[in-house]
Amino acid sequence: MAEFSLDLSEEQRDLRDWVHGFAADVVRPAAAEWDAREEAPWPVIQEAAKVGLYDFEFLANAWADPTGLSLPLASEELFWGDAGIGLAIMGTSLAVAAIYGSGTPDQLVEWVPQCFGSVDEPAVAAFCSTEPEAGSDVGAMRTRAVYDAATDEWVLSGQKAYATNGGIAGVHVVTASVDPALGARGQAAFVVPPGTKGLAASRKLKKLGLRASHTADVFLDDVRVPGACLLGGRDALEQRLDRARSGQRSQSSSAMRTFEITRPTVGAQALGVARAAHEYALDYAKERVQFGRPIIENQAVAFALADMRTDIDAARLLVWRAAWMGRNNRPFAAGEGSMSKLRAGEVAVSVTGKALQILGGAGFVRDHPVERWYRDAKIYTIFEGTSEIQRLVVSRAISGHQIR
Ligand SMILES: Cc1cc2nc3c(=O)[nH]c(=O)nc-3n(C[C@H](O)[C@H](O)[C@H](O)COP(=O)(O)OP(=O)(O)OC[C@H]3O[C@@H](n4cnc5c(N)ncnc54)[C@H](O)[C@@H]3O)c2cc1C
Repeated sequence: MAEFSLDLSEEQRDLRDWVHGFAADVVRPAAAEWDAREEAPWPVIQEAAKVGLYDFEFLANAWADPTGLSLPLASEELFWGDAGIGLAIMGTSLAVAAIYGSGTPDQLVEWVPQCFGSVDEPAVAAFCSTEPEAGSDVGAMRTRAVYDAATDEWVLSGQKAYATNGGIAGVHVVTASVDPALGARGQAAFVVPPGTKGLAASRKLKKLGLRASHTADVFLDDVRVPGACLLGGRDALEQRLDRARSGQRSQSSSAMRTFEITRPTVGAQALGVARAAHEYALDYAKERVQFGRPIIENQAVAFALADMRTDIDAARLLVWRAAWMGRNNRPFAAGEGSMSKLRAGEVAVSVTGKALQILGGAGFVRDHPVERWYRDAKIYTIFEGTSEIQRLVVSRAISGHQIR
């Protein structure tokens, strides 16, 4: 029997088809409206909760897949429906991944259900790492967490930027520096429970794309959280800080760990957008007649569509490889997680641009969804590490040099 196979299992095919059905029937028909309203699409989030696409069980089942492919498969389909609504549904998983990745079992049980809320009253969660002065440079984080032994509380102060679900979330997971001298290695992640005093958010930021997804700056003004809200607990933190102080190699910061877990999945989201645009442009090129024949009968158009499809399929293989490696604890010796997000993000930008060109004027107007996909795709070269940062990770990994 062959050991290597790219065939999906029956369960994986069922999952893919089920999410595709939700994306086609519920998400895509709602996409233009929520993009125009620039509001969080709560009714769609609730619908996702009702069908079982928005809860921890769904994520846990996907994470349990020993091939690692379930989450990329589901993400590609959901974001094929719409990236803004897709992120409104999946944005919570960034906070959940941080709790799952760094939290104790007790913290998982306490906070993860609160991230999602209930079917009747769904909630969203936010993961707040980026700051005005600390975007790509995570080590420049200024938000401070100071322990108050008298009350067994952590006091958080600072400002976070561009937080998905910032301010509309119940649970906010916030990264902060506990020992600024240690840079990124002196950081930790904290749960800020719903309704905690001192946490406030800016107005919803107006964006180029992903307009259905809520993005805001978050302000922390002497926010006091119980000692138990430090993800992983005091002992683990102290051990980690001691290792860092003694100059030993250790795991990367909480924020970086979270990004490592999620990069191939973000690549899969980009693929969903790219695939949507490619399918639409292919259909359009077969229908649209100029000079007495369908425009696809021009090599200039047909070859563009062939290149787009080739790029999408190649990027998907990188995404699947990285997802498999992550799930099976393979070391990312060449930055394969970053490679997958880098390629998928850039493919989404180039494919949506080519699709728009194939539609001509129809690509530029809002009667067709391609202009929205073109706007949405751009985020994939920016968030979860810009393309340049992915290249930095890959080039450092393959060279062993401190490339700057
Ligand atoms: C819609 C949206 C949602 C987001 N959601 C979240 C969220 O939920 N949580 C969160 O914490 N953050 C979130 N972010 C923030 C996002 O992760 C950051 O915007 C991203 O990491 C880039 O940081 P920056 O914007 O500060 O850009 P900068 O770091 O200022 O980069 C500016 C430019 O300089 C380049 N650059 C920087 N350093 C280098 C270098 N060493 N070498 C080469 N080029 C370099 C960058 O690639 C980029 O082109 C979100 C952002 C957006 C737009």
